[in-house]
Amino acid sequence: MADMHAYRDLKLCTKDCLCLFVCPVGATDTETGQIDFEKCIGCGACSRACPAHAITMLPNTMPAQQKKKKEVIDSLFKVARSKIEELRTLNYLLENTNDDKEKLLLKALIHSNKVMVEDIMREAGYMLPQSTNSNKFLNYLLNKEDDLDKTIINKLLEKLEVND
Ligand code: SF4
Ligand code: SF4
Repeated sequence: MADMHAYRDLKLCTKDCLCLFVCPVGATDTETGQIDFEKCIGCGACSRACPAHAITMLPNTMPAQQKKKKEVIDSLFKVARSKIEELRTLNYLLENTNDDKEKLLLKALIHSNKVMVEDIMREAGYMLPQSTNSNKFLNYLLNKEDDLDKTIINKLLEKLEVND
């Protein structure tokens, strides 16, 4: 089996079918949006040809999560917490303004802060879904008493073996 496989992001795909023409084994199906995992030989031709950057080559086995020093992780969490506080303030301001320009600016700031928090949390050890941290987080969500649909969480836990 190939070390890598192609994955298509349907949100980016413009259905121009280039990947269909270049694939040597007929693994891409632009009608269903699927790339056949069994057929794909991981050559990367579709990914190179795709003008919309909708296809990514991913390794079958992900590397272990990179270890970080406790001081680094603590600092990252501090920055993330301060960004979350900022988000609360920005959301409050957004709810309490009627000015369209202000709304636009606040929405942009909220988006930018969210992206930053996501980046920081990835750097703090939640980069890979099969890391111990991510596994603990999924278990936390699973055992949380709320109306969250747990089907996907169960599937992720079933499929993602911890590797660090
Ligand atoms: S080449 Fe890219 S944009 Fe075109 S059909 Fe394939 S995935 Fe979609
Ligand atoms: S990586 Fe190669 S074999 Fe796999 S879908 Fe793309 S073109 Fe086809």
